[in-house]
Amino acid sequence: MNERALKEQICEMGRRLYQRGYVSANDGNISVRLNDREILCTPTMISKGFMRPEDICKVDYEGNQLAGTRKRTSEIFLHLAVYKHRPDVMAVVHSHPPHATAFAVAHEPIPKCILPEVEVFIGEVPIAPYETPGGQPFANTIVPYLSRTNTILLANHGTVTFGPDLEKAYWNTEIIDSYCKILILARQLGRVNYITEEKTRELLTLKQRLGYDDPRLHCDGCPVCGPGLVIQQTGDFVPEPYAFRRDVGASCGACAGNGAPPSSTHDSDFTPSDLEALVQRITDEIYRQLTSPSGP
Ligand SMILES: [Zn+2]
Repeated sequence: MNERALKEQICEMGRRLYQRGYVSANDGNISVRLNDREILCTPTMISKGFMRPEDICKVDYEGNQLAGTRKRTSEIFLHLAVYKHRPDVMAVVHSHPPHATAFAVAHEPIPKCILPEVEVFIGEVPIAPYETPGGQPFANTIVPYLSRTNTILLANHGTVTFGPDLEKAYWNTEIIDSYCKILILARQLGRVNYITEEKTRELLTLKQRLGYDDPRLHCDGCPVCGPGLVIQQTGDFVPEPYAFRRDVGASCGACAGNGAPPSSTHDSDFTPSDLEALVQRITDEIYRQLTSPSGP
C-alpha cells in the first residue's frame, strides 16, 4: 500500500473508532510504520472521526516530526515503544473504548476461557500500570508486555492494540471492547460460565494452525484457564480479580477441572440442605446454652 492509501486507511480507521464510540472529542491516536525511518501518525487535537489524508503527520523513530501541517500526537512515544520492541508490528491503535476501559479503571484482569474467538485472536491481556499520558515514562509502562501480546489495557486510561497491518490492529480494539461488554452484561445476569481447560487447549491448537502463537502453549505445566497470567504482571502493579473472581457467581459444573481452586467460600457450594443444617446447628447451640446449668 502506498503512502496516500495508508493515510486514507488511517482516516477510515479513525471514522470507525469514532462511530463505535471508542474515542470522544479528540481522544485516541493511530499510527502506521512506513519503513525503517518513517512512521505515519494522527495529529493532536483533532477528532479521529473527521480526518482528511492531508491531516496525517510523518515522524521518525525518535518522534521528531518530518512532515504534515498539523502537530503530531503527543502520545507518539507509546506507538514508538511498540515499533521498537516488535519488528513484526506495522500499525498501532490507541483509544478509550468504554467497556475495555472500564476493566482498566477497575484494574480487573480480563478473565480467560469464556469466549472462543477471544482465546484465538487475543489470548491473555495484561494491564500496564498508570502513568501520566504522553512522554517516555508513559510509553515505558507497556514495554514489559510487548513481546507476548497484541492487546494491552492501560490502567485508568484505555487500550493499545497492534498488529501486522492497520485493520488487524484495529480489530483487536473491537474484539477486546466487545468481549468486555459481554463480560459486563453476563456479570449483571449474575453468573459466568467458563469453557473447560481441555476445550480451551483445543482452541489454542486451532489458534496455532491459523498461524497465531499463544504464550500459554510455551509454558509447561501452566494452567491455560486458571487464575493468574502467563504474561507476568511486573513491578508493584499486580491487579487482582474482583468482579471476576472464579469463586463468585461461577457455576460449579463449569469450574470443574478448569484450574479454579475449590474454595470453601464458593457461593455455589452452598445448597439449600447445607443452609438448613447450618441453621439447625446454630439453633441447637443456642438451645444448649440456654438450657445448660451455668446459663448462656
Ligand atoms: Zn489516551
